[in-house]
Formats: sequence, C-alpha cells, structure tokens
Amino acid sequence: PANIGYDVEALAAAGVEFMLASYVDIHGVSKSKMVPIAHYKRMMSGSELCTGAALEGVPQDVSDEEVASHPDPASCKILPWDKDIAWFASDLWTKGKPFSACSRTILKNVVAKADAMGYRMNLGMEAEFFVLKDDADGGYSPLSTRNHLEKPAYDVSRLLDNMDWMRELVKSMNQFGWDVYSLDHEDGIGQFEIDFKYFDALTMADNFVFFRLMANEIARRHGGFASFMPKPYGDRAGSGAHFNMSLADKVTGKNLFEAEDDPRGCNLSKLGYQFMAGVLKHLPAICAVVAPTVNSYKRLVLRGSMSGFTWAPVFACYGDNNRTNTLRIPKGGGRIELRAADSACNPYLGAAMVLAAGLEGIEQQLDPGEPHTENMYLKTPQELDAMGVKMLPQSLKEAIDMFQQDELSKAVFGESMFTTWIDYKSEEWIRYNNHVSDWEKARYLKLF
Ligand code: GLU
Ligand code: MG
Ligand code: MG
Repeated sequence: PANIGYDVEALAAAGVEFMLASYVDIHGVSKSKMVPIAHYKRMMSGSELCTGAALEGVPQDVSDEEVASHPDPASCKILPWDKDIAWFASDLWTKGKPFSACSRTILKNVVAKADAMGYRMNLGMEAEFFVLKDDADGGYSPLSTRNHLEKPAYDVSRLLDNMDWMRELVKSMNQFGWDVYSLDHEDGIGQFEIDFKYFDALTMADNFVFFRLMANEIARRHGGFASFMPKPYGDRAGSGAHFNMSLADKVTGKNLFEAEDDPRGCNLSKLGYQFMAGVLKHLPAICAVVAPTVNSYKRLVLRGSMSGFTWAPVFACYGDNNRTNTLRIPKGGGRIELRAADSACNPYLGAAMVLAAGLEGIEQQLDPGEPHTENMYLKTPQELDAMGVKMLPQSLKEAIDMFQQDELSKAVFGESMFTTWIDYKSEEWIRYNNHVSDWEKARYLKLF
C-alpha cells in the first residue's frame, strides 16, 4: 500500500529508504531535504532545518535562525514512481512554535476557526494542465503529435494518444485512494483534466501540491512535462483549478450546503448562500491569491485571441449551473464552484482566503441575491453596469491592490506573510512590466 501512514516499521517493510519532509514556498511548490529512513525519529521531531531566505517568498532574513520542518504523519505517501522514497507534507516551525508565514499553518488557522464554529470545509480541486514536450527550437508543443483539431474538447482519439502517461498517473492517484472518477481531453490541444474525490481542505491542499509534483514526474518519464501555467498559449483555453467547496457538520459529516427546498432552485442551503456571499464580498482579494501570477490574468478574459469563449470567468457574480459566472452551483447543488482559481495557485493560501471569506458571510448572515441564469459573456458593459456586476481584476497589479485594500487579507495571512506576499507579487509585476515582448517589438518597432 502506498498510503501507509506513519508507522516506520511499515515504511521500512515496504522498502522505503528515503524520506522528504516537504513544506512549500510562496507558490505552493514542494521543497525538502532528503532523509535516510534510519533518521525517521529525528525527522519527525523536526530535525530538518531550512533557511527561509533561500526560498521564494518565505519571509526570513539571511541572518535569521533556520525554520524547522515538522512532518504530518497522516500525509505520508510513497512515491508511486520511485517506491523507495516517502513524502510527507510538513509545517514550518521557528523557535519551538509554528512559523506564522508557513502557508500550511495559515490554512490550519482558518480551519481551526471553522472547527470552532462547528464546520469542516470539504474541497475538491479540478486541476487542468497541459502535457507538453520541449522542442529542439527552444519552444514547446503537446507531447502527443495529432494536434490539429480546432475543438479538441472531449476528443477520444487525442485522449487515447495520451493514455500511456495518463494511465500511470491515474493508477498512481488511485493508490492513495483518490478515487479518480473522470478524465478528459480539455478545450486546449494538449490540455487535460483528471477529476478525483474531495477531501477536507488541508488534505486537499496537501494532495494538490503532491499532484502537481506527481503529474510532472510521471510526464517526464514519458518524455514530456506537465505544465500548470495558467495560460501557456494565448489562443487556447487556460488551465483552471476550480475549487468545489462545501461545509460539513464537523461531528456528523453531513453536508450543510445541501437543500431540497431551495426557493432559488439550485439545491443550495441558506448557509451555502451566506458562504457564497462572503466569497463574493472578498472576491477581488481572493482572486489575487487563487490567480496569483502575471499569466493568470491572460486566462481571466472574455475571449481567446482568435477563438470563442475560453470558459474562464470574467465577472464577479454567481449563477446556477452556469459556467459564465465566477461562482457556480453545479447541477445537484450542495456545493459551490469557484472558477477563478487556476492551477498555479498555492492551495493552502487559496483555501485559507476562501474559507475565511465564507465564514465571514455566515457570521454576518450575508445574502448574495438572485443567481444569474443567463449567458453573462453576452452582456454589454451597460447591461452589466445596470446589474451592478463588476469584472474580476484584469491584471496582477489590480489584484495586488485589491488584496492590499481588503482587511481580510491581513487577518488571514498574518502581518509577515501579508507584507511578503505584496512585496513579492509587486516585484513580479515590475519585472514583467520591464520586459519588452516580441509582440511589442513586432508591432511598434517599425510602425512609425
Ligand atoms: N479551462 C477552463 C478554465 O480556465 C474551464 C473549463 C471547464 O469548465 O472545465 O477555467
Ligand atoms: Mg475542465
Ligand atoms: Mg469545474
């Protein structure tokens, strides 16, 4: 069994020789030293130190004492592609206490607040990604070669072309009990989605970090790589990682967002609507965290450059089972889908923001109004104005500003990560702006 838990004897019996006490940087990317299994006890008690200043967006000075990685035994996974290595999700600690800027700890704090209110957040993440290969000319192209369809969504031939790496990935996911229930070729050539079960928010965030790592490792073994870049091609659909969210009663596990008697016809409970209203209230700041890169805002557009709609959200509103809204209540109800989130997000920080916003909606008993049931993509700016519907932030810069202005951001991130996040993302924006692209040169250099 790959999901073996915390028993060192069992790990050894399964042939594990090395372990990773993995924490994440600001991007939610797995980082760790490798530890031989003979040092299991030391590792579990926090022996593995890390200089935060060596990582991206971890607020430590080079002169600071290292942070220590504290693995969570329940998260242990034996790497399906390298079975003598076990991976653990870990919290960072400093001076004998949880490190306030640790992404996982930030989520745990909000999860504890939900727990105190009697709730457990369940989260499913629908990760979309491209599987590509490096080309000799320095570019990249889909790993499989039949790439000429204009509408490749759900195409069976293209799906079959990719079954080698996909079969291995799905089997690996299922070894952990993730219960993959559907996989498809998405709307962009070379783009895929593999849907699997939801978990409590912390477990899902751990699993998403691990999923990106695993998809990449397996794709590499088949000659390609998995890209979670939100928009690798300007004229194809981007890669979302929609958050499917609900609250359960923490004791009985009952889904509290389900309702048979919803007068709005979406099978969502009053509690669900309050949660939704909290998310809507803080949506611009949430966007900054769940769509966290310069490139993310090339996905959140009405149209691709040449083709039609890209299925990505543009408007800060909610609807019934209607993909043209940022928040959707999928068929059957009982959950809310946040479509703004993309595959580049740090799932701990994203889930923390969204959960905190939802809880605020419940505390303040907010109501989101009536759902939008029409095609929002077709509305004119005047119609949207009349409906009071705003656009999502249109750039990372706009999103950073909204994040900075929203009081919820600092309350969730804590002083140190709040400042770090803004500094780090502002620097990313400046660097991007300082770059003069080939497109600009081709268009302007000799125009005048
Ligand atoms: N690729 C779309 C996005 O960027 C989503 C397509 C879908 O609904 O599955 O969010
Ligand atoms: Mg999809
Ligand atoms: Mg979805």
